[in-house]
Amino acid sequence: MTELFADVIMPLSVPKLLTYRVPREQFNDVFPGGRVIVQVKRKLYTGIVRRLHSEVPVGYSAFYLVSSLDTEPIVDEVQMQFWDWLSEYYMCSPGDVLNAALPGHLRLSSDTVVVPVDGMEYPENLPPKEEAIYMALQQKGSLSIAEVEKLLNQITVMQHINRLIKKGLVAVKEEIRESYKPKMETYIELSPSVSEASIGEVLDILEKKAPKQVDVLMRYLHLGKPFSEQKSEVSKPKLLKDLEGGDSALKSLEKKGIVVLYEKEIGRFGFSADVQPISELSENQQNALQEIESIFTQKPVVLLKGVTSSGKTEIFIRLIENSFESKNEVLYLLPEIAITAQIISRLQKVFGRKVMVYHSRLSANERVDVWREMIQRRSEGEKVILVGPRSALMLPFRDLGLIIVDEEHDPNFKQMDSPRYHARDAAIWLASKVGAKVILGSATPSVESWHNAKEGKYGLVQLSERFGGAVMPDIQISDIRELTKKKMMKSLFSPMLLDAIKETTESGRQVMLFQNRRGFSSGVECQSCGWIPQCVHCDVSLTYHRGGGQLRCHYCGYATVVPTTCGTCGETQIRTIGFGTEKVEDELAIYFPNLKIGRMDLDTTRSRIAYDRIFTSFSSGEMNVLVGTQMISKGLDFANVGLVGILNADTMLGFPDYRSFERGYQLMVQVSGRAGRRNKPGKVIIQTKNPSHPVIQWVIAQDFDSLIQHEFTERQLYNYPPFARLINFTLRHPDSRKLDDAAAAFAFQLREVFGNRVLGPAYPNIPRIRNQYNVCLMLKIEKNASYSQAKLRIKKVIDAFKASAHRSNYVMVEVDG
Ligand code: ADP
Ligand code: ZN
Ligand code: ZN
Repeated sequence: MTELFADVIMPLSVPKLLTYRVPREQFNDVFPGGRVIVQVKRKLYTGIVRRLHSEVPVGYSAFYLVSSLDTEPIVDEVQMQFWDWLSEYYMCSPGDVLNAALPGHLRLSSDTVVVPVDGMEYPENLPPKEEAIYMALQQKGSLSIAEVEKLLNQITVMQHINRLIKKGLVAVKEEIRESYKPKMETYIELSPSVSEASIGEVLDILEKKAPKQVDVLMRYLHLGKPFSEQKSEVSKPKLLKDLEGGDSALKSLEKKGIVVLYEKEIGRFGFSADVQPISELSENQQNALQEIESIFTQKPVVLLKGVTSSGKTEIFIRLIENSFESKNEVLYLLPEIAITAQIISRLQKVFGRKVMVYHSRLSANERVDVWREMIQRRSEGEKVILVGPRSALMLPFRDLGLIIVDEEHDPNFKQMDSPRYHARDAAIWLASKVGAKVILGSATPSVESWHNAKEGKYGLVQLSERFGGAVMPDIQISDIRELTKKKMMKSLFSPMLLDAIKETTESGRQVMLFQNRRGFSSGVECQSCGWIPQCVHCDVSLTYHRGGGQLRCHYCGYATVVPTTCGTCGETQIRTIGFGTEKVEDELAIYFPNLKIGRMDLDTTRSRIAYDRIFTSFSSGEMNVLVGTQMISKGLDFANVGLVGILNADTMLGFPDYRSFERGYQLMVQVSGRAGRRNKPGKVIIQTKNPSHPVIQWVIAQDFDSLIQHEFTERQLYNYPPFARLINFTLRHPDSRKLDDAAAAFAFQLREVFGNRVLGPAYPNIPRIRNQYNVCLMLKIEKNASYSQAKLRIKKVIDAFKASAHRSNYVMVEVDG
C-alpha cells in the first residue's frame, strides 16, 4: 500500500468527517475505533478513526495526522454505526454525537485543562517527557494542553498526557465538580481466629471482667449466626441499636482481636444493600410477564401499560433475570435522576453489585470510571445492569440483551440540544441492531407508542390493577374560580384541600403538593400601572425568589434585586403575581405551624447531598408534607402518601404545542399515582379554574381511552404525529431584523421543495433568549413519503442557506418534533 488515509470523527460541529494522511511509520498503529490526534487551525484535537482507506481526497491535499493514541479500539464498529445513525437520522454533525457519547477524558483537545491528581505518590521511573509534564503540573497546579505544549516547546504532548491520565496521575479539570463519595457503613465479623469450638471459652473469659462486651458479642452471634448456613452480615448501627455503652465495648472486642470491623458501601438512601430474594409475582403480574416473554419471541419491542403502582418494576426485574440467561448486559433507562436513586436501591436488593449507575450528576472522572469498569467487568464475564438517563445509551455495550425504557412517555428522554435524539427511539434502533429486546413501561404511554402498539409494530401488555389490592386514588376537584369569587380561598388553598391535609396528617399519613413552577412567585407587578420587570437578556418576566430576595431569569440565570419603585411610573406598591413552590411551602406553614414541610425542586436539590436529605426525610416519615415541581411526579414509590394536591392544574394544560393535552394528562395522572400505593386508599385534590376541561375530566375518570381517541382524531385531522412526521427548525441570530430576513429566505427555499407542508416562520413563545432571537418553522411530511429522501432535500436547502448571505444565522433541526 502506498498511501493510507483515515476518515476521522472530530469533536467539532463540522458536517463531515475529516480525512487525514497516516504517516508511514504509524500504519500499524491507526485503526477504526482508535483515537488519533489531529491538528485543525493550529489547535490539536482528539478524534476517532471511522474508516481507513487509500482513496486520495479530491480537491485538496490531506494533512498528516499527528499521532495515534490507542493500542486497541476504544469504540467498536456497532457503536460507531449507532453514531452514524444518530447523526444521519437526527441531522446533526458526527462531532456533536461524538461529544455526547465519549466522556471528556477520552477526547482531549488543546483547550482541555489538566490537573495533577491529589494524594498520589511521586511516581518513579516515569519516561522523561511524562515526568516533565508531571513536574510542570505539580508546579503550576493546572495547565491547558496548549500551555503544556508551549512550556515543553513541542506539539506532541497529548499522548503523554493520556498516559499520565491512564496511570491516574493527571485528570481533566472540571469547572463544576461535585465529588462523589460512596456512602460507607461499618460492618462486624468474627475474627478468623475465633472458631465455633473456641467461642465458648472466649465468652467465659469475658463474662467475668467485661459483661458489656459479652452483651455485644452475644447480640452479634444472634444477629449474624456466624457458624450457620444463614450467616449474614451485621452492620454496626444494627448491632448497637439501643445498647448503651455498646460502642466502647465493641472497640474493646476489636482491640482484643475477637471481632473485625470492615467498611462497606451501602445504597445512598438509607436502604440496605443486602441481597434479598425476589418477590413472588401476583397472578396478574405473572400473566403479564408470560405475555411479554411470548411476544418477545416474535417482536423485539413490547409496551407495558400498567397503572401506577401495578408493579411494573417487579416485572422488569424478572425480565432482567431472564435476559441474563443468554446475555450479559441490560440497560435500564430512566428519565430523571429523582427516580434513579429509588430504582437503584430496589435493583440492588436483588442484583447486588451487578447494578452500575451512570448519570448526569457524575463528574467526568466518574463517568470515565463507569466506562472503564464496564469494559473491565465484561472482560471478566460479569453481568451488569446499567442504570442511567438517556446518555447511558452511549456506553460501550457489547452484549446487550434487554433495554428497559421506564416512564417511556417522559419528555426528558429527548435531548434539547444537538444531537436532538429521543432516547426511546434511539434505544429501539440500537436494540434491533444488536438483537436485544426493548420493554417500554408507563402508566400513561405516549400517543406515539400507543399508536405503534395498536398498529402491531410493538407488542402490547396491560396491567390494570394496583399490586396487593391497593385501589386507585379517589380524585376530586376544587373549582378555584368559584371559590375566589366567593372569597373562600385561603391563600393558595381551597378549604377542601386544607381539610384534607389536616385529616391526612392527623391520621399519620403524608401529603405531596404539586406546583409546576419553582421560585416564590412568577413575578412582581406594579399595582398602579401593571409594569412587570423583565429579563434584560430574554423576553420573559423575572421569577421572584424569596430566599435570596432576588428576581431571577429561569432561562439565562440573570438575577437582580427586587425593585422598590416601579420602573415605569415610580409608584412604590409592588406586589407579587402567581406563585411557585417556595410560596406554597411558606403559606402552608402559616396554616400548619406544627407540620414538617419540605420542598423538592431544582433550587433545593442543587447538590446530591441536599437531594438525599429531602428524600430520606420524606421516605422515613419524618417529613409530613413534600412540596415540589414535576421532580416529585415521576415513578417515586412512597408507602405512606395519603393525599396528593395539585395546586394549579391550569398551568399543566397550557403546553405550547400539539402535545398539550397529552402532557397535561400524563403529568396529572403521574402525580396522582403517588397517592395510596399500599393497602390504605389515597386521595387526590385538583385545584383548577376549568373543572370542565376535558383533560381534567379524563384524569378524574382515569380515562386514557378518551384521551387517545381525542388525540388520534385531532392529529389525523391536522396532520400531526403519529399520523405525519414533523421536523422543526429554529433559526437564531442576535439581530432580529437579520433573523427575519433570513427566516423569510429559508422559508422560501423550503417551500420551493416542500410547498405548503411548510408552516411559519413564526415567533416562539419566548422569541429572545440570552440575547439571541429565535424564529421557528415547521415541516410536516406524510407518513408514506420517504423520510430519508426528505432529509436529503432538507440538507440541500440548509447547505445552500449556509453558503448564502444569511450564513451567520444558526439553524437547529429537530427531527421528530
Ligand atoms: P409501578 O412501577 O407500576 O408504579 P412498583 O413496581 O413501584 O409499581 O410497585 C408498587 C409497589 O408494590 C412497590 O412498593 C413494590 O415493591 C410493590 N410490589 C409490586 N409487585 C410486588 C410483588 N410481586 N411482591 C411484593 N411487592 C410488590
Ligand atoms: Zn407602575
Ligand atoms: Zn434571561
